[in-house]
Amino acid sequence: MTIETRNANETYEYAKSLGQECKPGDVFCLIGDLGTGKTVFAQGFAAGVGVTDTVNSPTFTIVQVYEGGRIPLYHFDVYRIGDSEEMFEIGFDEYISGDGVCLIEWADLIEDILPKSYMKITIEKDDLSDADHRKISVERAGS
Ligand code: ADP
Ligand code: MG
Repeated sequence: MTIETRNANETYEYAKSLGQECKPGDVFCLIGDLGTGKTVFAQGFAAGVGVTDTVNSPTFTIVQVYEGGRIPLYHFDVYRIGDSEEMFEIGFDEYISGDGVCLIEWADLIEDILPKSYMKITIEKDDLSDADHRKISVERAGS
């Protein structure tokens, strides 16, 4: 399905509703150019999970763990990853098979190691005349 948002708050609220419904073992992959709203989405999603800490892109640490919500949230930003091997070095396997939910910004950069089934969230600025307009497509990917 595809939804359209007119401002950052609408993206936040939509992501929050997904965060409220997510289950342990779920993997949400965020795909979109710089500045499209992946981190805004992550912040709303985290609020939905019940995380009250401030959520920012974990650009320098690759993964940030938030334990304060209904279930653990593992928030990845893999923009600076060299290759997928590095993901296993930081324990990607354990996060994916853990008791929390994974949210991965720039997941297209590690497409070769994504799990069999995941939620693919693609965010696009499709209307160049409206800087705050986004098209967000949500699909179950993999097998
Ligand atoms: P990314 O993580 O994809 O690089 P960010 O979430 O950090 O992007 O930044 C997105 C920027 O775009 C924020 O400044 C946000 O306020 C702005 N923005 C404007 N409209 C929207 C929208 N509809 N959805 C999400 N963010 C939006
Ligand atoms: Mg970001």
